[in-house]
Amino acid sequence: MNTRMVSWQGIHGARTLHDVAGSTGAVMPANGVLLKAPHAVARINHGRWIADCPFGCMGAEYVDLTNPEFFCCNCRNADVKNHLVPIDLPPIRRANAIESLLMRRKIVNRNWHPGESLKDLRDENVVYGVTT
Ligand SMILES: [Zn+2]
Repeated sequence: MNTRMVSWQGIHGARTLHDVAGSTGAVMPANGVLLKAPHAVARINHGRWIADCPFGCMGAEYVDLTNPEFFCCNCRNADVKNHLVPIDLPPIRRANAIESLLMRRKIVNRNWHPGESLKDLRDENVVYGVTT
């Protein structure tokens, strides 16, 4: 996906999740992704694709839309023995439509959560005074 929002690549470039997680010398991610563990859920906050930590530590990480796996740099996914967990993303066409609607707004108003429909975003754009 060629995102127009800030995502993992915009912050970390070509560095992998393991590169970034290991840069602090703290606990590294364990091998493998736990598909049956709690999933992180992608959302857009102030023009950034992020996912909140699903383990309740209040951490959040940038989302790599090409590799939607989550490792919390705060709690290190300790609840699942440091394994990566999946990040739920909208399908690509929907993500592109969401971004197109949000790009018309000021950065501070570029927000989306999975419960919001495209109609919701169009309606909000009217409130923000941008064309839809
Ligand atoms: Zn966490």
